[in-house]
Amino acid sequence: MSQHLSSLVLDEAQTGRQITGEVRQHLTECTACQARIERVRTRVEKARTSPLYQQTLTRVTTESPEKKPILLTAVVVVLASVALAVLITLWSQRTVREDDEDAVGTSTAFGLRVDGPHAPLWANDPMSLSVKAGGRAYVLVMAVDEKRRPIQIWPPEGENAGRAPKVIEGVLSPEPVAPAGQFVFYAFFGDSPLPSATAGAAILGAEALARSKSLPWDQIQLPRLPGERGRATAPVLVQSNR
Ligand SMILES: [Zn+2]
Repeated sequence: MSQHLSSLVLDEAQTGRQITGEVRQHLTECTACQARIERVRTRVEKARTSPLYQQTLTRVTTESPEKKPILLTAVVVVLASVALAVLITLWSQRTVREDDEDAVGTSTAFGLRVDGPHAPLWANDPMSLSVKAGGRAYVLVMAVDEKRRPIQIWPPEGENAGRAPKVIEGVLSPEPVAPAGQFVFYAFFGDSPLPSATAGAAILGAEALARSKSLPWDQIQLPRLPGERGRATAPVLVQSNR
């Protein structure tokens, strides 16, 4: 059995878009991923019945009466997916530290947003990383890709976390360049400069544990790093250049 499908690929697959032969093959063979895609479908159907979805549908329909219905449907589906992704990200940020008595302040104080000139990003795009550092002095942004490798994203150079912005929500500079592939980004916040080697080792350890349980690469349980005071995560998709 090849590696399980990532959550990003599952989201794409359930819309029926961009489904490759390899993905289709895996879905016919793997009962675990069949169950996961069913859960995604249920979640999307639930989101469609929500008042927010209906309001968005009404607004888009009212504001663009000249557009063709099929295009409207596509727009609404994309909007709903984005809203869902944002909700999931917010939810994960909120719950990350709730059971951690070492944490100071509320976990909603921490956040990570990844923007760029294209959506999804293209390889080599400059990435605008916005963080909410919860009053912590340092931030380190790491990523894990589908090959389960830890990658240092910010600071782009050096071996430790860099200075966090001293505002409630700030953009990190310099802007790192987007690598091609699909990733889960982690922003680790602390009062001292966390070493990227420590975060990398923790990611490798958690990935090995996830692999031994046959979990997908993007569903790892990362323990709290020494000195870590907060964390935010974000899924990021970067297309190869055409
Ligand atoms: Zn699978």
